[in-house]
Amino acid sequence: MKHLALAAVCSLLTTGAAFAQSMDTNAVLASIDQKAAAYRDVAMKIWSFAEVGYQEQQSSALLQAQLKAAGFTVVAGVAEIPTAFTATWGSGKPVIGIIGEFDALPGLSQAAEPNRRPLLPEGPGHGCGHHLFGTASTAAAIAVKDWLAANQRSGTLRFYGTPAEEGGSGKVYMLRAGLFDDVDAVVTMHPGDRNASSASSTLANVTGKFRFRGQSAHASTAPDRGRSALDGVEAMNAMVNLMREHVPSDARIHYVITNGGRAPNVVPDFAEAYYYARHNDMRVLDGIWERITNAARGAALGTDTTMELELTGAVWNVLPNSYLVGLMQQNLRRVGGYEYTPAEREFADTLRKTLAGALPPIDSANAVFAPDAGIGSASTDLGDVSWRVPTVQLTAATWVPGTPAHSWQAVAAGGMSIGAKGMIVAAKSMSLMAIELFAEPAHLVKAKEEFDKRRGPNFTYTTRLADRKPALDYRK
Ligand SMILES: [Zn+2]
Ligand SMILES: [Zn+2]
Repeated sequence: MKHLALAAVCSLLTTGAAFAQSMDTNAVLASIDQKAAAYRDVAMKIWSFAEVGYQEQQSSALLQAQLKAAGFTVVAGVAEIPTAFTATWGSGKPVIGIIGEFDALPGLSQAAEPNRRPLLPEGPGHGCGHHLFGTASTAAAIAVKDWLAANQRSGTLRFYGTPAEEGGSGKVYMLRAGLFDDVDAVVTMHPGDRNASSASSTLANVTGKFRFRGQSAHASTAPDRGRSALDGVEAMNAMVNLMREHVPSDARIHYVITNGGRAPNVVPDFAEAYYYARHNDMRVLDGIWERITNAARGAALGTDTTMELELTGAVWNVLPNSYLVGLMQQNLRRVGGYEYTPAEREFADTLRKTLAGALPPIDSANAVFAPDAGIGSASTDLGDVSWRVPTVQLTAATWVPGTPAHSWQAVAAGGMSIGAKGMIVAAKSMSLMAIELFAEPAHLVKAKEEFDKRRGPNFTYTTRLADRKPALDYRK
């Protein structure tokens, strides 16, 4: 009896304590506002580091430090990638993932000013806003962890620090290492010039270098003894160009000749063509890539050369989840956009004079747009995640309206208060979204139902990259 009574008192105390410390979502949003200046500092440091794919040592370490200080268990150097990491808090189901990127782009160095001025000539810059992406996601993860802890909720929250999005396929290797195997849903963002949840897809992309080897000889005195590797490349390109008429019209095939020999009077014994092929459905693209590879094989046979293919990248198209998009949109609407100060408006006004074409209204950052739909023509390694785990993404207005990604104008706005304000919109919306998934398991069931339906029966995610090692030096 005594024991039971004590147990009852204990349980009352626990409930009382939980009640006293419980945290509602208004408090979550307030906590992000309180730390906004600190998160802006973190983002601006990463903006200054401007580290390109797989070389993001300082950026990755800085985000890891934020998460570690907040009580997350950090595992660095995952998937044989030094700058990839996971940061986990909690235990059990559900498992919700939040993804953050942090790589910069070569050649886009730019001051936080509305006119073109590189800080470092031809140096790198955050033209895709991944400094805001990584920091917004970190801020969201910490806020969600605070909510889980205060409300004594069970479940696992895992932050994924994903390097080299820009052409390095970092997430593909992290998936291959099994790091997403137990995840129920992934929440993420991307910088942009407006606030909207993202219902749009992307193009699956396969890239590779076709290397032909022949026999060198004097091109005039002994051409019969030579076998031209460049002939191999040209025969391949001719066949692929004929093939364009017989692939779906929404496929994209582009190539450059990265090596075509050195001198016309030497039959080239080495030549290389670098190919990209894209389509909105990886399963269609698989067939197209197979035919491109066959053209290369046929070209080698016909020119008496040899050919080897190095597959350099492969990412799936993004698989949207409209159920999750609907939830994300509600959360984004609750957060809302933001107003420009007079100084920000002046910055935006000046910067917009450098942008071509028709521009959206200058004050559109204060609005929330309908979800972005359709198929974009970009490609991202988030595509692979979205075929493995139901995934939802939002775009936040971190750039001046009308700014394209991968531009110096994106670097400029991303390096000042406009970028920081958009980042907070994203952090808050992602927090509310993840909390909703923890709080209401039925959402995960519905998201999974749609996910299964869209993938089709007996679907298993695989990557064309097979057992290829991450190309850690691809930016060197
Ligand atoms: Zn990009
Ligand atoms: Zn990006």
